Amino acid sequence: MNIPQSSFPRVIIIGGGFGGISLAKKLCKKEVQVVLIDKHNYHTFQPLLYQVSTGGLEPDSIAYPIRKVLQGYPNFYFRLTEVKRIDTDKKMLQTNIGEIEYDYLVVATGSETNFFGNKNIETLGMAMKSIPQSLNLRSLILENFEQALLTDDLHERDALMNFVIVGGGPTGVELAGALAEIKKGILPKDYPDLDTRRAQINLIQGSDRILPAMSEIASSKAERFLEGLGVNVWKNIRVTDYNGKHVATNTETSFESETLVWAAGVKAACIEGLNAKELLCRGGRLRVNEFHQVEGFKEIFAIGDVAQMETEAFPEGHPMMAQPAMQQGENLGENLVRIVENKPLKPFVYKDKGSMATVGRNKAVVDLPKFKFQGVFAWFVWMFVHLYFLIGFRNRVVVFINWVYNYIRFDREARLIIRPFKKIKAK
Ligand SMILES: Cc1cc2nc3c(=O)[nH]c(=O)nc-3n(C[C@H](O)[C@H](O)[C@H](O)COP(=O)(O)OP(=O)(O)OC[C@H]3O[C@@H](n4cnc5c(N)ncnc54)[C@H](O)[C@@H]3O)c2cc1C
Repeated sequence: MNIPQSSFPRVIIIGGGFGGISLAKKLCKKEVQVVLIDKHNYHTFQPLLYQVSTGGLEPDSIAYPIRKVLQGYPNFYFRLTEVKRIDTDKKMLQTNIGEIEYDYLVVATGSETNFFGNKNIETLGMAMKSIPQSLNLRSLILENFEQALLTDDLHERDALMNFVIVGGGPTGVELAGALAEIKKGILPKDYPDLDTRRAQINLIQGSDRILPAMSEIASSKAERFLEGLGVNVWKNIRVTDYNGKHVATNTETSFESETLVWAAGVKAACIEGLNAKELLCRGGRLRVNEFHQVEGFKEIFAIGDVAQMETEAFPEGHPMMAQPAMQQGENLGENLVRIVENKPLKPFVYKDKGSMATVGRNKAVVDLPKFKFQGVFAWFVWMFVHLYFLIGFRNRVVVFINWVYNYIRFDREARLIIRPFKKIKAK
């Protein structure tokens, strides 16, 4: 990997997401050699992926080069590769570009879509966990309308304009709201010769309320916002299968749709060598102690979505969200310095800053630890918080300008089929 030996201990961080970046920022100025490895050369701001999928933002404005975040630190090295295996006996990683030894290892690999073993949904459905996947979805949505324009078969046309989003968490809710706004504001102008009123957006949730991790008031308000936008919200229904056209559920309800978006679950992105059953909790997360150490290892740590720290307040681990990942990265940064300096470690305590979701223009729900509010003010708070946490000044400016433009013009100009998506044909 061409990384020089150093008199400082080597800390390897796998993953330049929210956790990995906040840890690397903390460590770079200290007396350690920091090696950050990621399979992408950019950090992805996942909370805004749905805006890429729906043409609201260009992908470049929610991605940021990892090298740029941490440039100028002499002890920092970035390598673009995928870690394939961890050899915990030899304290070594195997990657696509060679092997590398570590003194301390931090797993910050995040999570991936969980299809719960359903191969049909995995192959024929759409996930939205990365920028390439969001671009695929953007292309598919637009290609569907182009196709709907060409067919005489009403049944086929309806299936092309029928969107099924599985999972009523923030991702599903935000995507459904954005699609509903496209239907209302953009489709009639772009496709005057197509009856776009027939387009349907279905949001399917397995439990009795959407946004189940938020307050009841946030759930019911979000549902009302969605229904106001014309989204069909289906609760207590689970999607069981999909053949590329027909969506089967555990009830008598079914859907004919060319687009199924799966936003119904994630699982930890584990790496071979650290995936023994006894190390893993529900969802494949690595069990860690209050100092982020993976059970049984003093020199291996895990943070963010991939880690499960069970505490009294969070018996099933912290929520798989950006804030816990960032706070864990910061705490581990301090602790690694303490280890090097032979000082006692600081246990992690999560400061819950609340959660939020947006449904569309002027519509969002915010749950803060002490206040809950919904509507226009919540929407401004949502925008401010997302701009604040977005990495890179240019990205903030571009996103802000886009939002102002889209707001004034009721538009989403990134509706471009740059890289056509070839959907596997239903059997
Ligand atoms: C669509 C969507 C919307 C979301 N909205 C919100 C929201 O509104 N608010 C919120 O708080 N959270 C939201 N989240 C969740 C939030 O993005 C995650 O909780 C957060 O990204 C977790 O941070 P992390 O550092 O653990 O992992 P990530 O940010 O996912 O980073 C993991 C990194 O590891 C890299 N990697 C993985 N495996 C390997 C490997 N083997 N080798 C090399 N590199 C590897 C990946 O390329 C990636 O860069 C959303 C997530 C999604 C998908």
